Amino acid sequence: MLTQNLGYPRIGANRELKKACESYWKGSISPEELENAGREIRRKNWILQKEAGMDIIPSNDFSYYDQIADWSVALNVIPQRFRPLEERLSPMDSYFALCRGYQKDGFDVTPLEMTKWFDTNYHYMVPEFSKSQSFSFRGSKVIDEFREALQLGIKTKPVLPGPFSFLKLGKEKEVGFNRLDLIHILLPVYLEIVGQLEDAGADCIQIDEPFLVTDLTDYEKQLCRIALTELFGSFPGVRFVLATYFGGVSHNFDIIRKLPLEVLHIDLVRDRNQIDGILEQMPDSLSLSLGIVDGRNIWKNDLCRSLEIIEKAVAKIGPDRVILAPSCSLLHVPYDLDTEKEEKGLPRNVKQIMAFAVQKTGEVNLLADLVQESPSDSAMRKMKETAEIFSAWRESDIVNNSEVKQKVAAINDSMAISRNSPFDKRIKIQQERLKLPVYPTTMIGSLPQTNELRIIRRKYKNNEIDENEYRSFINNEVKKAVEWQEQLGFDVLVHGEFERNDMVEFFGERLKGFAFTQNGWVQSYGSRCVKPPVIYGDISRKGPMTVDVARLAQSFTSKPVKGMLTGPVTILQWSFVRVDQPRRTTAKQIALAIRDEVLDLERSGIRVIQIDEPALREGLPLRKADWQEYLNWAVRAFRLSCWGVKDTTQIHTHMCYAEFNDIIDAIGDMDADVISIEASRSQMELLEVFSRTSYPNQIGPGVYDIHSPRIPSVDEIKGLILAASEHIDSGQLWVNPDCGLKTRSWKEVIPSITNIIEAAKSLR
Ligand code: GLN
Ligand code: ZN
Repeated sequence: MLTQNLGYPRIGANRELKKACESYWKGSISPEELENAGREIRRKNWILQKEAGMDIIPSNDFSYYDQIADWSVALNVIPQRFRPLEERLSPMDSYFALCRGYQKDGFDVTPLEMTKWFDTNYHYMVPEFSKSQSFSFRGSKVIDEFREALQLGIKTKPVLPGPFSFLKLGKEKEVGFNRLDLIHILLPVYLEIVGQLEDAGADCIQIDEPFLVTDLTDYEKQLCRIALTELFGSFPGVRFVLATYFGGVSHNFDIIRKLPLEVLHIDLVRDRNQIDGILEQMPDSLSLSLGIVDGRNIWKNDLCRSLEIIEKAVAKIGPDRVILAPSCSLLHVPYDLDTEKEEKGLPRNVKQIMAFAVQKTGEVNLLADLVQESPSDSAMRKMKETAEIFSAWRESDIVNNSEVKQKVAAINDSMAISRNSPFDKRIKIQQERLKLPVYPTTMIGSLPQTNELRIIRRKYKNNEIDENEYRSFINNEVKKAVEWQEQLGFDVLVHGEFERNDMVEFFGERLKGFAFTQNGWVQSYGSRCVKPPVIYGDISRKGPMTVDVARLAQSFTSKPVKGMLTGPVTILQWSFVRVDQPRRTTAKQIALAIRDEVLDLERSGIRVIQIDEPALREGLPLRKADWQEYLNWAVRAFRLSCWGVKDTTQIHTHMCYAEFNDIIDAIGDMDADVISIEASRSQMELLEVFSRTSYPNQIGPGVYDIHSPRIPSVDEIKGLILAASEHIDSGQLWVNPDCGLKTRSWKEVIPSITNIIEAAKSLR
């Protein structure tokens, strides 16, 4: 039975790509050195997969920043504003300008928008389409990488974003046309690309159409079918793999069935039940790639359960038409569990039930071994071992905490968990206490994490300095930050989050039921990686988590300092979550722990508490029919986390994305007194939905794009605030950046923030 990968992580086993890119941007390495680093990562990935026994190995899954930005370049979907830059810069630098913006030598160009990749925490660069859009094949990355692997003796399967999904992922930058209609002029370019790949020797090509798992209109289905029929039908010599993931395709199977297609890949982790209908209806010419190993989570595969499904498929269509694979690209899991040491943060029995990309690649091939008539001895041994590990785990008491289970059971879904008074009453009481001016200014929380800070933190972790020395460094940073904000004239201050390396990990470390890896990095966007904690058991607080730092910061000023917490849905969403109980139950457990913290902060005299929920929207199921159920429990988890606070305490929340149309009612139901959101890249367009629905509470639309090194001018910020005032009553508006500033440098932050304060003052 053949095995395949849909994509492999590309940041490098030790984040080599991150380091190389960032050095290149700083100018400390040459373009050649960056390219060498990329080539080395690709080589290692290919060889590793080959040695693991993978039959079909992907290429073009590598990217210096983002695979969709790569594809915009390949298809020449370059917005007009980048054209003058392209004349001046190398292709590499133009590409980075597209992703990161460019503010140098008299240029000031904003980057492409960035948004979340389906329901993951990966961000892709949104293609921009214009009315007069044309396409042409430019940049030969996909061909070059195929050839590069060929030279290493590996004939790879190039991975191409599908024409339909590529258009769906983008955005119209002008009115008066539907970007999907562009598919007719886009298709010839696909034919050209596949033709060139075929000439280069490729005989198997993966076309990613993840949108096939979502709800499609009849028109969309028709467009997709026409485009794929033509594409697949034009190359009898190429074996196409149509890859779908993050959900089932049963509801769109009527179009898939009719395609002249060789292999369909389906995600059986997200939708195990789709298998029966598909086996029933698939044409004889189609093979099925079973996405059976979870590409989105870090648990070991339950081999027995997987074998059941594989055997079912084999019984129906025969072993030659079955391929085994992870559920999706392994981009969403870390590299290699073997580099993890067992230690306090990662107990032995937790590590034992985990698997990363290397191990998952192994599992796929192990399964292929196990379904043979006579599996190898080592495969049989591994299967037995895994079964033993799982049964020991289920019985182990590190998973279960009866006190937590009781507390959660006591909060049933019909219980009202609202604030004491409605918003209009609360806000008056809060205003009496806080006495804020019009256009109150604040920041989202974190301030730049300097190299110095990172070094001190590392030394502390490695026991090179003691707790006292570490604390006094942090405390001094907090003091400087508060004084700086006070001087500038901020209205509500933040402590700067210097004590946190990551907004989820920090809380995870202070909660029971969490484990941590040392090197479990996953790409979030560009060179930015996150290291999600692992939720394996019932969750409770070990003790106060943020009270000390909040009190310290408050002691330096009479202005209100925000208590700063991460919300339950975000902690859930940005962790690897246990699969032995529903997500909503885990969310409730986290919410109760956060609530203990909220009440402690309030008791310590903190007047404003922000509970960040930047990940609320990305948890939204991909199909509309499932939204309401999710939103109900997600909003309830948020409300539970601040249930019982006094009216005088102002609750803020923060979300960093610009798409609120779908969830505006849920945002209203959260009933936070103030919400700050990302808005600068979309030029405040997104506020339209808040005004249309007469959102009653207060809003801080971001005026500073923190994902870009650009510094917004005072006039630009004033323009944004005025644009916001067109949608929202100025009495409801706050002025703040899009998000936290920890990834930016002080060199960028000081002028940007100074401009924000100046703009607010001038408008007042
Ligand atoms: N308070 C967090 C910070 O400022 C929020 C980060 C986020 O929204 N991702 O860093
Ligand atoms: Zn944010």
